[in-house]
Amino acid sequence: MIVVMNMGRSEAQRDAILQRLQTLGLRGQEISGVSRTVIAVLGNVFPELRDELSTMEGVDEVLRVSKPYKLANREVHMDDTVVELPYGVRVGDGHPVIIAGPCAVETEEQLWAAAKGIRAAGAHILRGGAFKPRTSPYSFQGLGVPGLKILKDAGDRLGLPVVTELMSVRDIDAVAQYSDVLQIGARNTQNFVLLEEAAKVGKPILLKRAIAGTIEEWLLAAEYILNAGNPNVILCERGIRTFETATRNTLDLNAIALVKRLSHLPVISDPSHGTGRWYLVRPMSMASIAVGADGLMIEVHPSPDHALSDGAQSLTPGNFAGLVREVGKLAEAIGRPLSPAPERIAS
Ligand code: PEP
Ligand code: MN
Repeated sequence: MIVVMNMGRSEAQRDAILQRLQTLGLRGQEISGVSRTVIAVLGNVFPELRDELSTMEGVDEVLRVSKPYKLANREVHMDDTVVELPYGVRVGDGHPVIIAGPCAVETEEQLWAAAKGIRAAGAHILRGGAFKPRTSPYSFQGLGVPGLKILKDAGDRLGLPVVTELMSVRDIDAVAQYSDVLQIGARNTQNFVLLEEAAKVGKPILLKRAIAGTIEEWLLAAEYILNAGNPNVILCERGIRTFETATRNTLDLNAIALVKRLSHLPVISDPSHGTGRWYLVRPMSMASIAVGADGLMIEVHPSPDHALSDGAQSLTPGNFAGLVREVGKLAEAIGRPLSPAPERIAS
């Protein structure tokens, strides 16, 4: 349920509503938009509440929210959420951003070569996993904290915000210390305790769609983060598991277009995991931008043949530069030019 307030409502009238909700064991969250201010009613709402709130002063109308996710819902929050990062990088402002870097941080040399390459090509955010969720316990698991330091150091030197995966509450302090955005991977999308703990760190969260997760489950996962008080969520479509085995996953372009409509949160696309094949990354990047993605996450490795994870879907820095040029042209052509390059000085 949402309470739409009069344009001229007073603070006292707003407080009276919040107070009333609290007495009923509910919570109200004010959302101020360009065109209207609403109070989202959170908790176990009962039907009679609608009439009761409608008669309160300062209230324009009280509307039911049809979906189970409330704070992530565009009916509740009409304006697009823009996530602000260091170096003036903004995600969701209508100008797509590009996140790039290796699947995993392997060595200082490897990360630095990838980072320099993606910066020169025009990427906005550097990625690299230090804690890797691998299907087999015998595969490379990531460098852990030393990997985080290598990533952050490159970000500082090049003037790029960094994003890396948080796999467990165990690593939360370290990951929070060395990253600007915490990534919750597809295997943890519905790890609700992790979502709530990560939300509390206060840094933006990049939330991947689960491997076999529905759109509603994904938005409810985002709701956990928003409900824990962190409004800065970036959604990432990374492909879902279908009957098709010719590609690693099926990148769900429907989901990008639909979630832009259902939610105000920025939605980016990860065609690297979405396809599993480096030569499909460029066409699916173009398609993602064309259907409205707010950005891309692309795996780049200086030597994909030697990568310790996801080499088959990683681009060389040269191929990545080509991708940015092509995507840049497309973005211009559809009136949503790519975001400007990050500022050199940390903001
Ligand atoms: C990754 O980004 O390297 C990753 C492991 O992604 P996902 O969680 O989408 O599989
Ligand atoms: Mn990967």
